[in-house]
Order: sequence, then structure tokens, then C-alpha cells
Amino acid sequence: MAIRKKIGVLGAGQLGRMLSEAASPLDIPLYLMDKSNEFPGARINPNFIAGDFKDFDDVLAFGRKMDIVTIEIESVNLKGLEHLESGGKEVYPNAKALKIIKDKGLQRAFYEEKGLASPAYKLFQNADAIKEAISIGTLQYPFVQKSRTEGYDGRGVSIIKTKDDLSKLLHTESVVEDLVDIDKEIGVVVARNKSGQVEAFVPVEMAFDPEANLLDMLICPARISSEKLQECVDIAISTIKAFDIIGLLAVELFIDKAGDISINEVAPRPHNSGHHTIENCIVSQFQQHLRAITNTELIKPSEYSPAVMVNLLGAANHTGPVKYFGLQEVLKTPKVYCHLYGKKETRPFRKMGHVTVLDQNLEEAIRKAQKIKKLIKITS
Ligand code: ADP
Repeated sequence: MAIRKKIGVLGAGQLGRMLSEAASPLDIPLYLMDKSNEFPGARINPNFIAGDFKDFDDVLAFGRKMDIVTIEIESVNLKGLEHLESGGKEVYPNAKALKIIKDKGLQRAFYEEKGLASPAYKLFQNADAIKEAISIGTLQYPFVQKSRTEGYDGRGVSIIKTKDDLSKLLHTESVVEDLVDIDKEIGVVVARNKSGQVEAFVPVEMAFDPEANLLDMLICPARISSEKLQECVDIAISTIKAFDIIGLLAVELFIDKAGDISINEVAPRPHNSGHHTIENCIVSQFQQHLRAITNTELIKPSEYSPAVMVNLLGAANHTGPVKYFGLQEVLKTPKVYCHLYGKKETRPFRKMGHVTVLDQNLEEAIRKAQKIKKLIKITS
């Protein structure tokens, strides 16, 4: 039976674009709302409605036209979602979970309450309160300070190791947590539908670019033991159930040098760490999300190829109309899948696209991905 429910997505960035692509073969009526029809999703999906997802009235007006409301970004108007939900609209993720997830302080408290391992933390009103705690000895170096809200892609995170780093303190309400001695950062995308079916994608390893503090390369499967892979999946499943989320939840985990696993943060939507599933798996994260929120049978993502995904980022010091270099060379290679998001303007480290490399030999895939990173330049 065809899925004829009208799905409304708040946001028309690259995730809205890839959700639209996944909706297309099933002819699902999927609508996007965002500020400009030049955004990546709006450029390919004619079901675009102009509006501000941070605005209560716009969210309400858009949501009322839909059967199901979902998001591709967390910074949507929460009151609008709550209103829709209490009026009986299907809203995924649920507003209560989103409220917690939008605030890194509430997230840490939630994990503590639910018995889910995550770094020890304290909450502070501002940078002065942090300095005060250091001076009276209730806070010790090293620690990680995070803005409670509105942080993304590493902006809003400050690692403070010594007194000399105090100038890097963020002047914002923050959560301060233990600095984890990270061995690997892992991402697990998990899906859950209304009937309670849960399916997790195989955990991936997230390697970060130290300069941009952005995901540099994503390696699937993560190079950890099968026991650890299973442990990561189990934690992700417990987390999606604890939040009672329907749809996708991307769970970012730390594995420390002692082998202990803890939750860093989650995102209740399709995620950068699942882009490779478009080509490497029998179901993509985007189609799985649509299945989950329409209470359709989820596909078990058991069959997949080893893969590496690299983000295509705007070059440092370049802002303005975008130009791509080196793409022709990359497009010559089989099993290399290029996605450009169609953003007109580049900015330093802006996510402009991604490339997924498939290879039965994972180390070979990593080598190819490194070569691609050197070949492609995105400038103004
Ligand atoms: P964002 O939400 O902006 O992506 P994260 O909370 O994921 O921010 O933090 C960005 C990066 O900072 C993480 O990927 C990790 O490398 C590092 N980091 C965050 N928290 C800790 C921690 N408690 N200990 C060590 N490193 C951390």
C-alpha cells in the first residue's frame, strides 16, 4: 500500500534534500519548510513552503497542513511542535525528547536519570561561575565546556586543559564535563517505529579534522571488535527507547582508552554519520526514517559494503559564489558516489557535499577517500 500521508519536514538543508530523494521512489508526498527556496532541499523538491522553522506561527501553519511533522534540524520552534502534538498531530521526534536534546545540560541529566553512561558533568551560569569554581577548588582541570544550547559542528565546545586555556571559555550558560581520554568516536544511527520495531545501522567510526573540528572521514564499519560493535548498538537501542523516539536517532559515543563506552550526544533525525547508507546498505537512513515515522516495516540493515564517507567542505578563507575543482577526476572512479548539495555560496568549512567510497577492502577505501580529499577543492 502506498504511503499517502503528507509528511512535513522542518528545514530544507541537505538532510531535507536527501529525505526528499528517499521519498521520491515511493511517491510519498513530502513537504519542506524553510526560509529560502534556494536552500538545498527546495532546489529539488517542488513541495516547498517558505517559512521560518524558528517561528511559532509558521511552524503551526505548516504543521496543520500535514499528517506527520518531522525535522531535519533541532533548532525548530519547540512551542510550535508542542502545540501541534497536543492537538493530536503526529510529531516525530516527540517534543519532550527534542526539548531535552536541544539542551546539553538536560541531556546529561537525562542520561544520568536513565542509567545511561555519559561523562560526569556540572552546570554553570556563565564563564565567571566556572572561574569561581576553579578558584574555590570545586572544579579541576582538565574539562570540556559546552554551550548548553545552539552549539553545532564543534562550535560551542571548548577544551580547557590548563589555566592558559581560560581565555577560551565561552561566555554562555554551559555544561562542564570530564575530558574523556578518547580512543575512538563512534556513531550509531538507529530507527524505531510506532509498533516498537527497532533497527540499528552498523556503528561507524568518526574521525575528526582537528582544525575545523568537523567530521573529517567516516569509516564503516568502525574498526573495533565485534563485541564492542554490539555494545555500541545495544547502547543506541537503549537510548532511543529511553527517549521514546519514533524515527531516527543518531547516537554519538566515545570509547575511551580503557575501552569504556559513554554517550556524547544524540541527534533525533538523519545524520552526517549515516550518509554512506545511501549506497552501502540495503536501506538508507533516509528511507528508514520515512518508514519509521509512517509506521512501515523497518528494513534490517544487515547487508552492507565497507565504506568511507568524506564531507566536502568549503576551503578556509573562501566566502562567496562557489567553484568546484577536481570533481572530474573523482567522477572517473567507479564505486565513488558524489553528492553536491547545490549551495550557491561557499564559506570556510561549510558542508557543501559529501563523497562515499565503497570498497570490499576498508583500508583501500580509506586510501581512496584520502586521495579524494586532496583532489577536490571548493573555493569562491
Ligand atoms: P557538537 O554538538 O558541536 O558537535 P560535541 O559535543 O559533539 O559538539 O563535541 C565536539 C567534539 O569535541 C567531539 O566530537 C569530541 O571530539 C570533543 N569532545 C566533546 N566532549 C568531550 C569530552 N567530554 N571529552 C573529550 N572530548 C570531547
